[in-house]
Amino acid sequence: MPEGSSGPPVVGRGWVAPGGVLGHGTLEVERTRRADELDVFLWRCDACEHELHRVAVSLSDITTELGPLFEAFWADEARRTCARCGAVLPRPA
Ligand SMILES: [Zn+2]
Repeated sequence: MPEGSSGPPVVGRGWVAPGGVLGHGTLEVERTRRADELDVFLWRCDACEHELHRVAVSLSDITTELGPLFEAFWADEARRTCARCGAVLPRPA
């Protein structure tokens, strides 16, 4: 995925998931409109905005399927550690 502004449109920068599972950080949701529609969730470092982790999934029910997706992210400290500045995105209380 090349850097730049030619990617798919960012629909909701700073978007907050139902139930407050997000907590910290900036989450960007990119919605692509293809035949197999995918929702892309992208976490960025609080300190330097470097991309930490990105998942592309096809969600049929955002209210039930988002929880496990975020839980997997928060459970893996390596995914939350910034490769650029070393900051670790804190898990929500
Ligand atoms: Zn960083």
